[in-house]
Formats: sequence, structure tokens, C-alpha cells
Amino acid sequence: MDKKEKSISNVEKKIPVLYIAGTGRNGSTLMERVLNEIPSFFTAGELGQGWVFYKEKHCLCGKQFDECPVWESIVKDVARRKVEPGSIIEANNKYNKKGTITTFLKLLRLKKKQALPDDFKQYLKGLQILYSVIAKKRDCKIMTDSTPLTLYGY
Ligand SMILES: [Zn+2]
Repeated sequence: MDKKEKSISNVEKKIPVLYIAGTGRNGSTLMERVLNEIPSFFTAGELGQGWVFYKEKHCLCGKQFDECPVWESIVKDVARRKVEPGSIIEANNKYNKKGTITTFLKLLRLKKKQALPDDFKQYLKGLQILYSVIAKKRDCKIMTDSTPLTLYGY
């Protein structure tokens, strides 16, 4: 493990995330494009959806995420930290889809009891690593996340 990796894995500080709450088609992409003009901001899109791990999804620059100059190294760095991209995609499909608010509310109650399902714990850990890698690589003071599920912000 090199110094850079060690410093990322030991990050315990809070990462300021501006969550743009709302449902789909709410104008969050436009809002993120405006916020992206602020030098200390990094607008990360819908991180909770795991789009950056899909082979067929494209960045706003038009390239696939694993070929984009911004996301390529982030995706590789996250993978090196033993985050299985498939687990984030599967958990997103299971817990973050429309109509799963009752499921999400149950998870929030379980969180208080420390009894979250293992796949949801993995999802949260994967997102934590993703946020950490982005914060380190983009050297941003604030990042945005516009995952279109209002409870996701919690
Ligand atoms: Zn791009």
C-alpha cells in the first residue's frame, strides 16, 4: 500500500456532500451543471445509482465511465479497495428503486438496531469508499450527489 492509498483508507473526516433531494426528472442535472461552475465543487451525479460502474453508461462528457478522464481513475481506485461494483449495482436495484420507500424505511429502522442486511452494509461501505476516493482525487471541498430517491439523503 503506498502513502496515497493509506491516506485514503484512513480518512475519517466527514466529506461534505450536498445532496440534491428529489425524484427523477426534477432538474437536478441542470442544477449540478450550474454548481459545477464553482471551483471547489465536484458534481458527482447520481452516485447512489452506481452508474459509474455500469459498462454501458456514459458520463456527461459522452465517454463511458471507465474511459472518461475524470472517472476512469476513480473507478479503478475504488475497485482496488475491494469494492465489488456488482454489489453496488445489485443493492441499488434492490433498495433504491421507485416503490421501495417502505423497504428503505424498514432499513432505517434496522439501522437503529444495528441489524442491517449484509448486502446493504456492503452497499453503504462501497459508497463510503467511493465518496472518499472522489474527495481525494478531485480535491473538492464539496461534492454533490443527486441520487433520485429522497430518503437516500438520510
Ligand atoms: Zn466524463
